[in-house]
Amino acid sequence: MPDDVPLQIVEEVTQRTPGFYGWQQPSWLYHCGDGAAFLGPAGYHDLQSHPDALEMVRGSYHQLGWSGHDTEAFLRQLDRANGPTAYLFQCLHCGAHLASWDID
Ligand SMILES: [Zn+2]
Repeated sequence: MPDDVPLQIVEEVTQRTPGFYGWQQPSWLYHCGDGAAFLGPAGYHDLQSHPDALEMVRGSYHQLGWSGHDTEAFLRQLDRANGPTAYLFQCLHCGAHLASWDID
């Protein structure tokens, strides 16, 4: 998703494809029964500012059976400009930070 796509357009696209459809592309996130606001691409250091989002990524890999060591190694590779990239969202209702990510 190019950075210069207006959020309005992104919303139109993502509203046609709600849900989480896999690892290959960033997908829109939902919280408190509503679509979360997209804050932008994020790297590991950006996620560290939002521990709740970082925990979301970490928890997903633990569920996949990754070891703590492998998970941390992957998290440190997350980079805003060079993939794998995380995408930061924030719930408009409770303020929780959420993250989705892709693997390049
Ligand atoms: Zn919420």
